[in-house]
Amino acid sequence: MADARSRPVVQLTPNARHRVLQGHPWVFSNEIASVDGHVEPGDIVEVRDRRDKFVGLGYMNPLSAITVRLLTRHDVEINGAFIRERVRQAILYRESLYGETGPLGQSPKGYRLVFSEGDFLPGLIVDCFGGYIAFQTLTLGIDRWKEDIVSALSEFAEPKGIYERNDAPVRELEGLKQTSGFVGQPFDPVVEMDENGVTVVVDVQKGQKTGYFLDQTDNRFAIRALCEGKTVLDAFSYSGGFGLSAALAGAEQVLCVDVSDAALDLARAAATRNGLNGAMFFRVANVFDVLREFEAGNQQFDVVMLDPPAFARSRKMLERALAGYKEINLRAMKIVKDGGFLCTSSCSQHVTKEEFDEMLEDAARDCRKTVRIVERRGQRADHPVVLGVPETEYLKFRVCQVFDFR
Ligand code: SAH
Repeated sequence: MADARSRPVVQLTPNARHRVLQGHPWVFSNEIASVDGHVEPGDIVEVRDRRDKFVGLGYMNPLSAITVRLLTRHDVEINGAFIRERVRQAILYRESLYGETGPLGQSPKGYRLVFSEGDFLPGLIVDCFGGYIAFQTLTLGIDRWKEDIVSALSEFAEPKGIYERNDAPVRELEGLKQTSGFVGQPFDPVVEMDENGVTVVVDVQKGQKTGYFLDQTDNRFAIRALCEGKTVLDAFSYSGGFGLSAALAGAEQVLCVDVSDAALDLARAAATRNGLNGAMFFRVANVFDVLREFEAGNQQFDVVMLDPPAFARSRKMLERALAGYKEINLRAMKIVKDGGFLCTSSCSQHVTKEEFDEMLEDAARDCRKTVRIVERRGQRADHPVVLGVPETEYLKFRVCQVFDFR
């Protein structure tokens, strides 16, 4: 690694100055005026403003549109010890937040240990499910530090096993290959975890993303009071996170719908594991079709959950994505019983809170219902939001009460 004097220097164009100086860690390719020195993809570079003032240090990948991601605003050496300390701080934050006194890798619960920019480690995602870690290094600049990251996770979280989930297509934008596998000792990749008293089944090898969506953990708990003795539709259920929570809270009937049979297998296994088979039903289907079918057949539910995948993968797709969100929310409002609840989410970082609420307002108007927002929620605190970095705040969750009158 180059020492401080021989470090390549990236000079910002004037337009980048403002946003990057406000605390945002990304430098886009069109915000770079010049690069002084030789840079191999993934190298640490020094970023300076137009007047040659030091801005920070980050890793650079000329292949990526986000060409530099800053790691620090201090003039320090970025080395293995620096990365390890960031990982340690991320783990300490969860320990104090959740009152865990022992190593997090020994806890039966699940936590996101590292949330990329939210933990000042851009590109790194680490989840721990009942002691088993699944991680992703999604950028070249962070992938380089994989060994230090794994050793820090082992030392500071003491997990029972580690799995690399780098089978993520975004890696190719960075010139990285997709890859996955056990790191160290292999283990049964279908693991169990306690989530608010529900035993959840997580497949760290074949499950979606890292295996389970921990960002909704608190929201799954928040819906319990609405569900006792009720009929519940868990649309886009994946492995049944919301549905299981509803059933544990005493829902009379829960129907989980997902296009993925593999996802529903995990939900079925968890229903059995929790003794909730009598109340839970599963259907492999497209939610868009199912909502239309229920509307046509006049089948209604006391509570409807909607937790679709991100419809907007870029700001350019926003309009189409909002139309998709509106369609499912409008149809869901139609099949909620008078006075019942719609619990609706969007995990698209490109859809703002305001746009999401406006979409709901449009949907309510178009189906001639009165809808009141009972609660506005977001992602759990182990997915921390950094002010000035709007990409870190992505999950919108609304509990809405739906009335037939207008
Ligand atoms: N609610 C889940 C997470 C949902 S993730 C939880 O609490 O963990 C989104 C899910 O939607 C995925 O499982 C995916 O398989 C499913 N999905 C995507 N498009 C779908 C469609 N059109 N119909 C039904 N399911 C769909």
